[in-house]
Amino acid sequence: MTATLLDGTAFAALLRKAAAARAHAVTAKVGRPPGLAVVLVGEDPASAVYVRNKVKACAEVGVASYENYLPVEVAQAGLESLVRELNERREIDGILIQSPLPKPLKLQPLLELIDPVKDVDGFTTHNAGRLFQGRPAHVACTPAGVMRLLEHHRVPLAGKRAVVVGRSNIVGRPMAQLLQLADATVTVVHSRTDDLPARVHEAEIVVAAMGRPAALGPDHFAAGAIAVDVGINRVTDFTLASQWFAGDAKRLAAFEKHGVTLVGDIDPRAWPKLAAYTPVPGGVGPLTIAMLMQNTVAAAEHRAGIKALF
Ligand code: NDP
Repeated sequence: MTATLLDGTAFAALLRKAAAARAHAVTAKVGRPPGLAVVLVGEDPASAVYVRNKVKACAEVGVASYENYLPVEVAQAGLESLVRELNERREIDGILIQSPLPKPLKLQPLLELIDPVKDVDGFTTHNAGRLFQGRPAHVACTPAGVMRLLEHHRVPLAGKRAVVVGRSNIVGRPMAQLLQLADATVTVVHSRTDDLPARVHEAEIVVAAMGRPAALGPDHFAAGAIAVDVGINRVTDFTLASQWFAGDAKRLAAFEKHGVTLVGDIDPRAWPKLAAYTPVPGGVGPLTIAMLMQNTVAAAEHRAGIKALF
């Protein structure tokens, strides 16, 4: 059996193209492009890369990005005022606060201030609650992207046994909810699950979102399962990488050059056993940003009276 590679990079390009056409229609109707405000506090290098990629996607799709770079000393009250101001600004349709925030800043109180229409990450209690009830909502970008990818590849979900590994508010929980809304029978496993390997082995569809490099190996999966790998882990141990990527000379040469590589939560040696899988990189990662563009355009359509969100 040859496993099908679920190519997130190619599909994300299609999603961005579709978002661009809708952004164009918004611009034509209201005389300005959809606007996304991005808030980045401090100088965390990984966050800076994510923000750069988001700003780049905005430019490609025809969304205006409004970047707010703030020093690490900014006070919680100052950030709260900024969110209130962004809520009021007419040219801004979506607001994104890049996490993690440096200590002692608290993310959740800031998220709760975001106007639910502008909550393009789907992280407010309002949108998470609506998703929980199966009502229209802004849905968190990563799980929303996974659903679109599965739909695109016509992966049947109704009646299937799905296991989600991880229960965070940004990935695991909304992922499980979306799969359940698609009529899958969903089990959520986490760090306190008894006999996690047995639970994963029962699954026809596995979504791994634990943040543990190559933690799920070939023995975890039933032959012919479909696996989506959300995990993104930086690895600097060449011995481990050369086991996971044995046979991938290009990847190992790049590792030797840069001293680092990315691996998901699924050991690549499990791929041949699967019916289909997403690689890392090039799987779920690009979909997250593409869905952020889609959500931003949807917020702009709502505010322009083109199509209601809720
Ligand atoms: P969190 O750390 O918030 O959550 C991890 C979850 O995995 C928790 O529920 C935790 O269980 C569970 N977990 C951790 N270790 C184990 C273990 N050994 N066995 C079973 N369960 C375990 O992470 P996120 O949800 O934010 O992210 C998960 C991964 O996805 C990360 O690698 C992150 O970088 C990546 N990510 C990728 C995105 C993309 O665009 N592709 C977007 C967002 C995240 P418990 O609740 O019991 O602690």
